Amino acid sequence: MPPAPRPVDLRIDARWIAPVEPPGVLADHALIVDDGRVVAMLPGADASAAYSPRQTVVRPSHLVIPGLVNAHAHSAMSLMRGIADDVALQPWLEQHIWPCESRFVSPEFVRDGTLLACAEMIRSGITTCSDMYFYPDAAAGAYDAAGLRAVVGVPILDFATRYAATAEDYLMHGLAARDAWRHAPLLSFALAPHAPYTVSDATFTRALTYARQLDLPLETHLAETRDEVDSARAATGATTLGRLDRLGVTGPDFIAIHGVHLDATDIARLAAHGCHVVHCPASNMKLASGIAPVAALLQAGVNVALGTDGAASNNRLDILSEMRLACLLAKVSTGDAATLPAAEALAMATINGARALGLDRVTGSLQPGKDADLVAVDLAALPLQPVFDPVSHLVHVADRSCVSDVWVRGARILADGALTTLDEAAIRAQALVWQQRLLTSS
Ligand SMILES: [Zn+2]
Repeated sequence: MPPAPRPVDLRIDARWIAPVEPPGVLADHALIVDDGRVVAMLPGADASAAYSPRQTVVRPSHLVIPGLVNAHAHSAMSLMRGIADDVALQPWLEQHIWPCESRFVSPEFVRDGTLLACAEMIRSGITTCSDMYFYPDAAAGAYDAAGLRAVVGVPILDFATRYAATAEDYLMHGLAARDAWRHAPLLSFALAPHAPYTVSDATFTRALTYARQLDLPLETHLAETRDEVDSARAATGATTLGRLDRLGVTGPDFIAIHGVHLDATDIARLAAHGCHVVHCPASNMKLASGIAPVAALLQAGVNVALGTDGAASNNRLDILSEMRLACLLAKVSTGDAATLPAAEALAMATINGARALGLDRVTGSLQPGKDADLVAVDLAALPLQPVFDPVSHLVHVADRSCVSDVWVRGARILADGALTTLDEAAIRAQALVWQQRLLTSS
């Protein structure tokens, strides 16, 4: 007699599955999930013989992919979406964002803004977000409520804000938040000195010491604008990456966000040290910062992930659209249409992001034993027909309205297009309250 089918939590019958590792597409397979983890992907008849699921979800026109990783965001800034369009980075920060933050940012602002961002990200197929903002304790609470996986960045600056007075204060507040959330299964922390132009050598060195002792990733905005790199050269004789390299910051736990203005030496350094770069194409284009040398970074062997940056400079939190922009920018900037095929963009949006954040053993691809962070994308709509290559369609044709279901660690947080963990009406109402406050103060 054949063995009785093994009871499992969930079976998803999908038209296509793109596991990312290995590359390629499985057609008409079932994905088996138990106890929050991927168990197997196999043809339907084999699945019926081997497994007895407590729940079956049939997705006959869908592509199932690993949950998307947004490797850089400032989630609470969603409450400032659209308040300052059409300005470059420095005036955007100095004349718009920092004055607004100095008046309004509070734990309540961060919680409400992060919940708004979580709702948008879940609807966009994002299951992991690497965040960097004030009051990380409040942000952690929002991610926990949403059931979203997050790497909460501990912000560090050398100037005082409502949140903290000194660099040491920023560190201590952030580490206290980390301690408070140490048992939350979907949360981890990183140290996030803001940028080379807002953080001194001494503060970078201090952050590095903590990062190494606590085994945390260290992330910073880097080489985002030409001005930043030129000023660094004038002041230190080195590029901003060269300056951080002298301090010993570069290493396999270092995440350089943006990396728009990197020279060949910088790229070789990043590759030699096993560093990671987070490419944020929409934000870089909107602030007119430039085009990151993604093709050269990938060719050098640097792990490149994708991020949205905050909604105040994007203005959306949508990794599906970042994938497409990354492909198009890489092609047009190199003059080579073969650069950055769709499958490579999908890897950047999933496993590369997980690797940058130190989560690649847990998420980023559909391999047995990894957490079941999954997204179902419906490719049935007329503008997507015909479907020759579902991964190409995911990157170049589908948009986030096609995302039907999202699971994080096996928990379904978007079911048939409905959020299951968040109260959309309450989030919308709070966004309107904050909009009124921001408007009446301007
Ligand atoms: Zn940023």
